[in-house]
Amino acid sequence: MADERITGQCDCGAPAGPLGVCADYYHAILAEEQADPRMYRWHAPVVCAYLLQHPSEAHERHLDNQFRLLQLYLDRGLDALLRVAAHQVARNNHRARTGYDLTPLAAYAPLPAGGPPRRFRAAFSGLPFGGGSFVSGGYEAYGNGVEAIAGATVEAWRSVPA
Ligand SMILES: [Zn+2]
Repeated sequence: MADERITGQCDCGAPAGPLGVCADYYHAILAEEQADPRMYRWHAPVVCAYLLQHPSEAHERHLDNQFRLLQLYLDRGLDALLRVAAHQVARNNHRARTGYDLTPLAAYAPLPAGGPPRRFRAAFSGLPFGGGSFVSGGYEAYGNGVEAIAGATVEAWRSVPA
């Protein structure tokens, strides 16, 4: 408990990387993906995983939906997630008051009470960042890194004591 506020450690329990804590990585990702449509494909899992690892920065009422979206991503892949996300956007545009369509997400487990987890086995501050870019090792490697963080996020939340 006493070690939580050590300088260089993030709220999620991860040690800082060369860019700083996870928030520094997250903002650098959001900036880079804006100019890179291929990298932007992972936007939804990046946002969901970041907020679920740092829930003090999130809107609590969205976390359950974000937890289910990450499960769908891990279960069915990025293309399936993008289809659901596009469907939700279209639906929101059509009928602004209906909010998210939870139908495709209903099969997935709700966010456990009793979180947030104290540790995750993969963190944003551990993502490789070389030559000023997150995708210098290729898009597949970047996608694998995002997927590892998503998997760690779901696993840690699933194991919080009820
Ligand atoms: Zn963190």
